[in-house]
Amino acid sequence: MRASEATNLYFKRAAKQLGIGNRLETVLMAPRREVKVECVIELDNGELGCFNGFRVQHDNSRGPMKGGLRYHPEVDPDEVNSLASLMTWKTAVANIPYGGAKGGINCDPSKLSHAELQRVTRAFIDQIHDIIGPGQDIPAPDMGTNAQTMAWIVDQYSKYHGWNPAVVTGKPLELGGSEGREQATGQGLFFAAHAVLADHGVDITKARFAIQGFGNVGSWAARFIHQAGGKVVAIADVSGAIYHKDGIDIDQLLVHVRDTGSVKGYGDAQEIPAQSLLTCECDVLVPAALGNVITEENMQDIRARFIIEGANAPTTPQADEYLMSKGVIIVPDIFANSGGVIVSYFEWVQNIQQFRWRIDRVNQELKSHILDSYREITSIAKDNECDMRTAAFQLAISRVARASALRGLENESFCMINERH
Ligand code: NAD
Repeated sequence: MRASEATNLYFKRAAKQLGIGNRLETVLMAPRREVKVECVIELDNGELGCFNGFRVQHDNSRGPMKGGLRYHPEVDPDEVNSLASLMTWKTAVANIPYGGAKGGINCDPSKLSHAELQRVTRAFIDQIHDIIGPGQDIPAPDMGTNAQTMAWIVDQYSKYHGWNPAVVTGKPLELGGSEGREQATGQGLFFAAHAVLADHGVDITKARFAIQGFGNVGSWAARFIHQAGGKVVAIADVSGAIYHKDGIDIDQLLVHVRDTGSVKGYGDAQEIPAQSLLTCECDVLVPAALGNVITEENMQDIRARFIIEGANAPTTPQADEYLMSKGVIIVPDIFANSGGVIVSYFEWVQNIQQFRWRIDRVNQELKSHILDSYREITSIAKDNECDMRTAAFQLAISRVARASALRGLENESFCMINERH
């Protein structure tokens, strides 16, 4: 099943239950704009490099569109489409005033020099500067991009439109970035995990966690879980996986990863086959690396009672249905990993206000956003006797649908659809 089909399946299921009707369903499923541009640069060796850049703007009913920019050799337009749609639902679940977007460039950042990456980023902004902006569409870092990429975007965008750091989030602090943005997704995931476990009578200090991915999301989530006394028994990154039944010392592991570049070879744990991380003996599984990792192939072997989706779309719809039928609690991506976009929103607010928040304010506001969403999702799940993913989609769709209908966009979009036929 293609990425967009999986997202649309969840969307349609929740939309049908809400009874928003086929007309609005059609409008909310399709992206408003899909852009593909060619970014041509001179490579360091004097040859020309041509890369495809994409931006998909899914929905702006509730505010400007928001979503990351991914640099990867296999940036796939269908996946970008699906991720843009997930952003619409994620920002609506978090109740922040944004729609959803996503984009990327078909390039391998590990094979480009710093100067080449800068040129390709500026070439991309030359092509799309008139469709992004603080009130239109606000990119952020994603796989293969970082605060430096955002700094180049601010600079290039400002050449056309004047100084405006609110055009992107995830910037360096010196250019208007926010305190707490780097750890925000892991921090938000931790707040979500804490709330879910407490609701099911599980003390976090007695729970065993397995985490796939030790990058931004996985490593920060591991730090917060470890600090709270939770046992992280297994961790994987792209190089392999490690396991210790009594828990891994995350502070020591961070030093090992800083020195060697991977979790492999960490002395105080045993190495296990990478794929067995997902099926190891644990209470809470946190996929925080890739999409589509919990599938029909491994779903029967998963032993965790809770799955907290740090990555986007890590669980296929077949595995989702099977695991739920077995009583596994799945905390969906559009809620579990929303901490990053929530603190991105705080960064944008600070830029517009030209005022800086302290870290304790950022964390306090983040926690209350996550706990508010959690209460709303669980209340819908209880009232409608459904799982958390369906409840989260229902919450998001009802917010977007109401905004869309109030703005009269439904009729306008239908005129456009009808014109095409
Ligand atoms: P990252 O690049 O910082 O880290 C990815 C980690 O996954 C690395 O440790 C890498 O070694 C590991 N990995 C890659 N392939 C693997 C494999 N086959 N098996 C095991 N581990 C593997 O990325 P990130 O920012 O932490 O993002 C991780 C996921 O979370 C992505 O799906 C991303 O879309 C999602 N996400 C990230 C954020 C954010 O703020 N960073 C927010 C929401 C969602």
